[in-house]
Amino acid sequence: MSAATGGPATPTNAAPNPAVVAEHYDLVVLGAGSTAFAAALRAAELGKTVALTESRTLGGTCVNRGCLPSKNLIEAARLVWDAQHPRYPGLQPARIDFDFRELIRQKDEVIRTYRERKYTSLVEAAERITTLVGRATVIGPHTVVVAGRQITGQHLLVATGSRPQIPAIPGLDQVPYLTSDWLTSDEPVELFELPESLVIVGGGYIALELGQMFHRFGSQVTILERGRRVLPAYEPEVSSAITQALRAEGLDLVTRAPVQRVDQAPDGTIVVVAQTPGGEQHYRAARLLVASGRVPNTDALGLERAGVGLDQRGFVEVNDYLQTAVPHIWAAGDVIGGQADSQMATPVGAHDGGLVARNAFGDDRRKAEHAVLPRAIFTDPQVAVVGLTDAEATALGFRCWCNTIPVSLVPRAGAIHDPRGLAKMVIDDDTGRVLGVSLVMREAAEVIHEAAMALRLGASIHDFIDLLHVYPTLAEALKIVAISRFKDPGQLSCCAE
Ligand SMILES: Cc1cc2nc3c(=O)[nH]c(=O)nc-3n(C[C@H](O)[C@H](O)[C@H](O)COP(=O)(O)OP(=O)(O)OC[C@H]3O[C@@H](n4cnc5c(N)ncnc54)[C@H](O)[C@@H]3O)c2cc1C
Repeated sequence: MSAATGGPATPTNAAPNPAVVAEHYDLVVLGAGSTAFAAALRAAELGKTVALTESRTLGGTCVNRGCLPSKNLIEAARLVWDAQHPRYPGLQPARIDFDFRELIRQKDEVIRTYRERKYTSLVEAAERITTLVGRATVIGPHTVVVAGRQITGQHLLVATGSRPQIPAIPGLDQVPYLTSDWLTSDEPVELFELPESLVIVGGGYIALELGQMFHRFGSQVTILERGRRVLPAYEPEVSSAITQALRAEGLDLVTRAPVQRVDQAPDGTIVVVAQTPGGEQHYRAARLLVASGRVPNTDALGLERAGVGLDQRGFVEVNDYLQTAVPHIWAAGDVIGGQADSQMATPVGAHDGGLVARNAFGDDRRKAEHAVLPRAIFTDPQVAVVGLTDAEATALGFRCWCNTIPVSLVPRAGAIHDPRGLAKMVIDDDTGRVLGVSLVMREAAEVIHEAAMALRLGASIHDFIDLLHVYPTLAEALKIVAISRFKDPGQLSCCAE
């Protein structure tokens, strides 16, 4: 039985009674998102007692205001869009009427159901896990204060995640703006009205996913990216393909457009002023969405008091075992950013949370495995990548062979009238080992798992070629791009043979 939130916790090794009863746990976790949950459940499996602390909503970003609500609404927008834009000659466009407020309501229902099933009920059922509601602060190497209570842990895990970065744009603090937090439920920042028009500052995955979603629901969307291309950490071909796909739908996607200032007109319209290669431009919209990155939740945590190091951006510094400078204090999930070659994504944090519990309490310490981290962006077409980009592989000293094929070469793409996108493969030309794959295509987030497993097992280009692929599938793109090393992929017969 877990202690009720905020109520008296069940002390495991209660100290002799001074004025305050010290509560001691084997593991104290700061934060209660997916990283924290994985650690808590694994530690409990190992017979350890755990205190989970949470200052906002149990379950963290992914379930409450990230992955789950965004993917829920993105799919609804796709249904609306596809009906209006049938790809097949012979299908007539149909308008699906929708009630945005009702869509938001069902999204909240999905959040609640999922939060209950995958988070709340699990800790309620776990005898060794106690949940404490409140902002946790570290006041000593083993000591945390939360909701006026002092608790100690043999080990501490920092899993406080991240939040939207708010750039220092003149005027921003004077105007109303949204962040991805609008996806939340039961919080005042939730959005219930579909904006007639929207300017999005930023060109990362959140900007692209949400920008396309709003556009497909009917908002007039402008995306302003300050750099030369969106998704700068991805292959340049990926940036071009997704930019082309979004512009073809009608999104106004402007690159090399750093925002100079924002203002609000007397009628309430937001005016965003950006410096573009063509000069200063004014973009007007009913709403402004700031999606310019994420910052770690490490300010005011008191970590420095315990001797934990932070990098220049505030992410917790860890070694390959996810240990901070203080051996019994660990960190994982979004709060470590790119430390130890990690990525800010739910499965990475969840995997690493479990690893921390094993490393803290198990017999065999293991390094975090961050070499093969498949990632996806749920635009349409989707983007999915794993392993190294061409530039990363070259920088590491590999003699690379790389090629990109258009998805139009894949029979299924032609069969279902969706030729958008590409597949790129990066190979170590000395050994034939596949180092990285990037996909832009329908269902890329599913297809990438073949490549991820291949990279995990050290597969070569010939493994992709020799594997029989189901015909006709989009996964054949992997076989075709591999074959393009040896022959013209435009001259293949059925089944890429
Ligand atoms: C719009 C959006 C879409 C996304 N889509 C995807 C996706 O499709 N797939 C994917 O893999 N990832 C996605 N992500 C990223 C994913 O949500 C995060 O990588 C993941 O939630 C990180 O988990 P975490 O447990 O490390 O941190 P979080 O989930 O952020 O949990 C940290 C928790 O700690 C709490 N906390 C902070 N400070 C304190 C404190 N002092 N005391 C107590 N508690 C504290 C916070 O309130 C929070 O609940 C998305 C993110 C966003 C914003």
